[in-house]
Amino acid sequence: MSFRASLLTLYPQMFPGPLSVSLAGRALERGDWSLETVQIRDFATDRHRSVDDTPAGGGAGMVLKADVLARAIDHASPEGDARPRLLMSPRGAPLTQERVRALAKGEGVVIVCGRFEGVDQRVIDGRDLEEVSVGDYVLSGGEPAAIVMLDAIVRLLPGVMGNAHSGQSESFENDLLEYPQYTKPQVFEARPIPDVLLSGNHAEIDRWRREQAEALTMRRRPDLRERKKNLQKG
Ligand code: SAH
Repeated sequence: MSFRASLLTLYPQMFPGPLSVSLAGRALERGDWSLETVQIRDFATDRHRSVDDTPAGGGAGMVLKADVLARAIDHASPEGDARPRLLMSPRGAPLTQERVRALAKGEGVVIVCGRFEGVDQRVIDGRDLEEVSVGDYVLSGGEPAAIVMLDAIVRLLPGVMGNAHSGQSESFENDLLEYPQYTKPQVFEARPIPDVLLSGNHAEIDRWRREQAEALTMRRRPDLRERKKNLQKG
């Protein structure tokens, strides 16, 4: 069975959006994965079909109502559905390549896209929503975050990346950023491709790439190297 993504959103027209083109789009057409949107508003019961209300305790903005969202979740992910339920949220655990890889190995995901000031805490608790963040900044809604996460997952699904190297030497594998890449022409605006890459000596090339990756990571993201050391320490 292929990877199944269910998106709960107030703006289903945002999907598949950018996921309909290129690698993810072709994979979607082939049926390597599928995407279903659930309009949260369809589960509102009052005359105005309202999905949000003012925050208890006061303050700015509106909050997505627990009862409406809970009904939408129960519809999209009935009992027995083994897929993780994720809530896109700036308060969540930062998304990592490791988590992306784990999600890509599973059956799929149920993703709740927040809007307004966020969602009522009781639906997060009552429906076991795991909060996931795509970075330390605030978006106006969870949809772009869901698209980012799905893009990262889908490219790792079996058969999606044509070239079967499947990103072994990519950024974040082994907690390293990727080494610099070059392609023809040999000289661009007086900048040559480093000699070693044209040497044909694969051991030397591997060593150079490794050194470059380590130096780049130390300069830009020393936190990645620290994380690795700490993991090794246990
Ligand atoms: N008041 C909230 C922000 C709400 S932004 C707070 O201060 O934490 C509205 C919605 O956008 C959120 O419910 C969430 O679904 C989405 N969102 C915003 N930033 C995000 C991020 N960095 N990662 C994932 N989702 C995000």
